[in-house]
Amino acid sequence: MNASGTRVEQLVAAMTLREKLAQLTMLSPLPPGAPRQPDLEAELRAGLGSILNVVGRERIDALQRIARRESRLGVPCLFSLDVVHGHRTIFPVPLGEMCAFDPGLWEATAAAAAREARRDGIALTFAPMLDVCRDPRWGRIAEGPGEDPWLASLFARAKVRGFQGADPASPGGPDRLGATAKHFVAYGAVTGGRDYNTVDISERALRSVYLPPFRAAVEEGVAAIMPAFIDLSGEPMTGSRALLTGLLRETWNFDGVLVSDYNAVAELVAHGVASDIPEAAALALNAGVDIDMVANAYVDGLEEAIGRGLVTTATVDDAVRRVLRLKERLGLFDDEAVPVVDTASPPRALALEAATRSIVMTRNAKGALPLAMEGGPIAVIGPLASSREDMLGPWSALGDMRDAVDLVSALRATFPTRRVDYAPGSRLESSDEPALDAALELAGAAETVVLCLGEVRDMSGEGASRATPVVPAAQVDLAMQVLALGRPTVLVLCSGRPLVATELYARVDAMLVTWFLGSEAGTAIARVLAGEASPSGRLPVSWPAAVGQIPIHYAELPVGRPASATDRFTSRYIDAPVRPLFAFGHGLAYTSFAIDEVTPARPAIGPQDGVVVTVRVRNTGPNAGRTAVLLFVHDPVARVARPVLELRGVAAAELAPGASATLSFALTPADLLPLGAEPGARPEPGRIEILAGFSADPAELKTASVTVVPG
Ligand code: BGC
Repeated sequence: MNASGTRVEQLVAAMTLREKLAQLTMLSPLPPGAPRQPDLEAELRAGLGSILNVVGRERIDALQRIARRESRLGVPCLFSLDVVHGHRTIFPVPLGEMCAFDPGLWEATAAAAAREARRDGIALTFAPMLDVCRDPRWGRIAEGPGEDPWLASLFARAKVRGFQGADPASPGGPDRLGATAKHFVAYGAVTGGRDYNTVDISERALRSVYLPPFRAAVEEGVAAIMPAFIDLSGEPMTGSRALLTGLLRETWNFDGVLVSDYNAVAELVAHGVASDIPEAAALALNAGVDIDMVANAYVDGLEEAIGRGLVTTATVDDAVRRVLRLKERLGLFDDEAVPVVDTASPPRALALEAATRSIVMTRNAKGALPLAMEGGPIAVIGPLASSREDMLGPWSALGDMRDAVDLVSALRATFPTRRVDYAPGSRLESSDEPALDAALELAGAAETVVLCLGEVRDMSGEGASRATPVVPAAQVDLAMQVLALGRPTVLVLCSGRPLVATELYARVDAMLVTWFLGSEAGTAIARVLAGEASPSGRLPVSWPAAVGQIPIHYAELPVGRPASATDRFTSRYIDAPVRPLFAFGHGLAYTSFAIDEVTPARPAIGPQDGVVVTVRVRNTGPNAGRTAVLLFVHDPVARVARPVLELRGVAAAELAPGASATLSFALTPADLLPLGAEPGARPEPGRIEILAGFSADPAELKTASVTVVPG
């Protein structure tokens, strides 16, 4: 046994049952006034294993000293926090950052966040969230990777590497955090988009859509996984032995820690699968949940459960071993403390780059953008334009709104010689007559209007499901009255999800989707408006044209009775279009691009072969720009029908006007199969289409094919 194994075994042997249960418990300070406020100092003396939501290096160090010096066995405490898209310096919300289609960027922002958080005493983050979601009614879509499981898997790998560093064995060190892949699994498919609701999906969807990003995180050595709050067809994830132990540990060889979601162990009673806390605790522990987050159910219930014969001490011991091993991996037993002072300056340049590259220009009629540097007054209208807090988005850790840049200030700095006037025009969700009058007056006198509309940050994120994810009516009214003045008008839309407002979007001259972009939000938007940066973001979700299209995504299965000969794959509505307003991948630039050629290296391959596909992309417009190129596959005839498009490659090109680049995509045999196919599965013989383009809009794709010949 190695030294680390020895320490873990010695500690397990030395612990009392109470100490073991404390080691499996994570507590948090509760909001003021909550009953049963934990006494963290006393809990640490009794061997408490982990804490979340305590912030401030001094406070954490003081508590850690108690754990190390005043608890009987001196086991260090694990401090954790939701460091989701930045710690002090805030990057775009994940759905925004997805628009860059760039794993290098995703990794860099995670690494920067990890560094800031670790210097603040945090060792484990509850991120990345890997819940594929096709339903913008669900507010948590903002926190995740969007609709596509392949892209989500790329994101999973990048984020795990960014938070933990490249060495899966030791995600510790002064600059790194342990990562937690969450929420396992299919949380993004809650029925009706209602947070915490039941999930009822096919086995096939589970395997090919919702599990793959978690598999990628496990392969990347993720330190922890959090089961979701939900039940899957009646089986709550927190109690799912089949998925937590059977799939994660036994089939995928996940060797990290399973940490419950907030109070989820106790909630097994409310779910209707346990009659009391001892039963709930036994169910979760037997399923494989090592750490009980804040429910105190392990401490309150497991002794009794052992007495009732529901769970064994051997199972408790295994969980304790995993928690201690995680603490070792994170370097918590090492004497060297992480230095308090971070000598690096805050990563503002990275925040600006990430924010800029997360912006998606969905429309630019008559070249309304970029705005001229010189000219008459710019009227900025809309309740979000002066907000700094909202720019940080949900889950902004220690992000300070005073460090964030709002749009009005940024426009004034970016256009020093143009007058920039501001009027909110309405409240967020209700009209305000005097404010409206003032806004119309400003807009009437302006040369250009910038409308900044959308959601405040609390309208996205956990618990923020919306039955009708639209731009709030008061803001649409405001916009329509402004548009009636006939001034060139640019819409800047801030939100954590696609918002439906199809008529409004058709009337503005240009539109930027800007999500919640973080600390540098205003500056990034102003740079794009001024043409200092060409927009390069692409949508990681299909943007609905009507609320009734939801759930919506591009990877549909072919239907037996297609809508029309030209739209071979989809069924239809009689009262709404079937296509999204903006396709997955849509995004314009201050130039244009074209795909000239898609060339597989060989026309035919055996079932064990991969194939390299080259794609020539050209800048056909007047300006330099960056674009992502997307590579899809489609298997038109298979034993089980395959989606009409499946993303399998992303590459980027930065091109001067007129220049072209040849990008190469190495497709493996697995890339030709459905995601989540059994190991060893081989592509079926027959033709496979390979489609390259900038979005999932079929009209935009250039197609080639390879034939798989029997091996
Ligand atoms: C959320 C998790 C989060 C946890 C701790 C829960 O309510 O579902 O995503 O990590 O709280 O803050």
